[in-house]
Amino acid sequence: MKLCIKCRSKHYIISCTVYEKGEHHSYNDKPAIIYDDFVKMWCSNGKAHRENKPAKTWPDGTREWLLNNELHRNDGPACQYPGSADWWCLKGERAELILKENLYLKKVIQIKGITAIVIEKINDCWYEILIGDEKKLVVSLDKYKEG
Ligand SMILES: [Zn+2]
Repeated sequence: MKLCIKCRSKHYIISCTVYEKGEHHSYNDKPAIIYDDFVKMWCSNGKAHRENKPAKTWPDGTREWLLNNELHRNDGPACQYPGSADWWCLKGERAELILKENLYLKKVIQIKGITAIVIEKINDCWYEILIGDEKKLVVSLDKYKEG
């Protein structure tokens, strides 16, 4: 167990890579930091960041997708926790899940007993809805396939 010497941070690490400005940075899709508990993190210019793959992984199988330090994933859950529910997030915002319901524009739906209207389809999973004056993101899982 040792302190990170390269970046002079106070995290305990096995290895870390830094770029010229002294921030953690991943090269060739390798983790920028491997912590002494074997948590691995991919970074770009000091921020947790990896495109289309998890940017943070834990030995127990937990995985998080991040872009610029924000939980974000278009085509699947941004957080996968073994033994508990996945989180779906876009740009750091966590979505409600709507199971097995086909969503289309202007459809009126109920989320936890609250009435909402579908206002925009973002992609095959993601929709924007309106609750009162507030826009929220939801995920319809009926079209989402694992893998
Ligand atoms: Zn470091």
